[in-house]
Amino acid sequence: MNELPFQGRTAIVTGGAEGIGRATAVRLALGGARVFTGDIQVRPENSERFAKLGIEPLECDVRSDTAVRRLVETALAKTGRLDILVNNAGIGMVKQIPDVTEEEWDRVLDTNLKAVFLTCKYSIGPMRTGGGGSIVNVSSNAGILPRAHDPVYSTSKGALIALTRSLALCHARDKIRVNAVCPGPVGDTGMMNADLAKATDPQAFADQMIDASPLARAHRRMITPDEVAESICYLASDAAIMVTGTSIAIDGGKSLGVPPKA
Ligand code: NAD
Repeated sequence: MNELPFQGRTAIVTGGAEGIGRATAVRLALGGARVFTGDIQVRPENSERFAKLGIEPLECDVRSDTAVRRLVETALAKTGRLDILVNNAGIGMVKQIPDVTEEEWDRVLDTNLKAVFLTCKYSIGPMRTGGGGSIVNVSSNAGILPRAHDPVYSTSKGALIALTRSLALCHARDKIRVNAVCPGPVGDTGMMNADLAKATDPQAFADQMIDASPLARAHRRMITPDEVAESICYLASDAAIMVTGTSIAIDGGKSLGVPPKA
């Protein structure tokens, strides 16, 4: 097995400041990649570790055409290539449609879906010129099996799977592979910590999340960011050279349907 599967490769990871994105950036860098993260937040606690691994954290709001273009251009200017793009930045929204404002709809769809259009728009050309590449989109179990409590989020993640499949079809001839991962429930992430902090009974909320995923329930714990990063890195690597258009559910079976009663 190749110890440094990403040696000589350049990777961009959006939403790399914490959670799944940070775990992915670290794994890619440990595998030899030169990694650039794009995030609206820069977390000082990452500085030392990122510097040691040669990970460059860049400020980028993925909803902005100009910012995304700058992110891709920076990676290209510094390394001359782009091999891996991980579209991970995302936000949730728990609200019913009659209560959702147009601004809220736009915020979720722009972050979870339009951003992927923008990163791909600027990355596909350089990947094609470089002889190929791998794009991994972070969707959700909600993209496979929509949920009643978050219709806007579920829609954005379902559409992301459709975009993944369309891009995979369009760019196979360029040797650009496009795949998705569909995680959840993932603990130790900004998104999950925010939900736990809002809950009136955080332990009961965590138990409810764990119970909704058959394997999480069997293991009595949530999925870790690193367990998701492992699959992202597989899809980004040459081990997946013939894999495109697929969505890997890393959700302990949550999106399979209604779990049996405990
Ligand atoms: P997280 O909050 O730790 O990570 C999301 C990152 O995206 C953050 O660093 C945040 O600053 C960044 N971000 C948000 N808006 C941005 C913007 N406009 N521009 C640039 N960066 C932005 O949460 P996470 O769970 O690691 O989320 C990563 C991805 O995983 C998301 O797409 C999320 O929808 C998906 N996901 C998470 C879970 C879960 O259980 N945690 C489940 C299913 C899917």
